[in-house]
Amino acid sequence: MTVLEAADRPAIQSSGRSAAGVRVQFSSESNARMSWFGIQEFQEFHALTGRDSGYRPQGYLFLVPESHWPNHEAALSMQQTLGLPAERLTTKDAQAIVPFDPDGIYACTYGPQDGVIEPKGVTQAYLDMAVSHGATIRLASPVTAVAFKQGVWTVTTQAETFTSDFVVNATGAWSGRIAAMANLTLPVEPSHRSVFVTEPLGFDHAYPLTVDVATGTYIRSDGQRLLIGRSNLKQPPGLFTGVDWDWLPDTIEPATRRFPFVGNTTIDRHASWWGYYALTPDDNAIIGFHPDAEGWLDATGFSGHGIQHAPAAGVAISELVNQGASTSFDLTPYAHARFLKDTPTVEHHVV
Ligand SMILES: Cc1cc2nc3c(=O)[nH]c(=O)nc-3n(C[C@H](O)[C@H](O)[C@H](O)COP(=O)(O)OP(=O)(O)OC[C@H]3O[C@@H](n4cnc5c(N)ncnc54)[C@H](O)[C@@H]3O)c2cc1C
Repeated sequence: MTVLEAADRPAIQSSGRSAAGVRVQFSSESNARMSWFGIQEFQEFHALTGRDSGYRPQGYLFLVPESHWPNHEAALSMQQTLGLPAERLTTKDAQAIVPFDPDGIYACTYGPQDGVIEPKGVTQAYLDMAVSHGATIRLASPVTAVAFKQGVWTVTTQAETFTSDFVVNATGAWSGRIAAMANLTLPVEPSHRSVFVTEPLGFDHAYPLTVDVATGTYIRSDGQRLLIGRSNLKQPPGLFTGVDWDWLPDTIEPATRRFPFVGNTTIDRHASWWGYYALTPDDNAIIGFHPDAEGWLDATGFSGHGIQHAPAAGVAISELVNQGASTSFDLTPYAHARFLKDTPTVEHHVV
């Protein structure tokens, strides 16, 4: 197996620019299962790889208005039926975890084993494991052309040409463009996101990734700093670069309304960052064989949850290549076919 990576270092695109959160609190069973697999792997990571995943069970807390509660209540019930660590909290109990204005909050849900990891270290550990099993890693090797002739794929970089029975397109925000090189249609678009980072608050805190569901605004502790974010759903797709400072007021205003202490913080313009969601039409990944090509697999379009779904996706792809089907995961919700049949996978807990 050869891994071709355009950048000169691993995990400097979306995987190194995420909020690094992992949570079982999804509304679709498949996403909750994929996440729980990932969280367990991150918990046991040292035994598996000899490295630390940086997993910290800092929690995820959803602050839910009454209009959204039916979806969250159904999701919580599903998570608990699966035996996943998730619970309902009263507003008062939730306020003991992170201070917020309870106006309009009907109920809260909390995942005590949800948390954060360190994606760069995790990626490097997976690469090292792959090398120890015989894989070759080529950094600074952007794929420039892909062709399929007589049952074999030819993949070309600036320096080399490779042939293989299988190609796995795992190029995230760029995967639609890579598929187009092979004349394949793949509905994945880059969607810009900014993470605004405060100066250190001057005291220790470990606030969970807390989502104000009514506005989609989130905060979480990062050392003594706070990360603050909110997806701009009106922004068109595209490979825009740089922090979107024009979006700062639309993020800070709802954040301060819900978390008044945010009003006393200062944004550190140098520590803030940006990256891309690889967005699909239904905010869920595409994992599996492309229906229009033999031996072409996609593992992409993870939208805002690819860090936590990566371990499961890796297992699923390896099973598809080696066995022709995944025995560990039901990949139906991630199939390309759902877009052709107009049967999107529904996920309500999108951040
Ligand atoms: C601000 C932000 C916050 C997020 N928060 C979370 C979170 O809390 N939890 C979570 O689970 N997910 C989160 N995500 C989503 C997560 O980061 C992504 O889903 C995940 O990193 C996708 O991984 P990937 O490997 O598919 O993409 P990437 O990490 O982007 O990797 C794709 C790779 O393909 C390479 N590539 C591109 N073109 C070529 C080419 N021509 N040839 C060779 N290589 C090429 C790129 O260089 C890149 O390294 C967040 C994303 C952002 C932007």
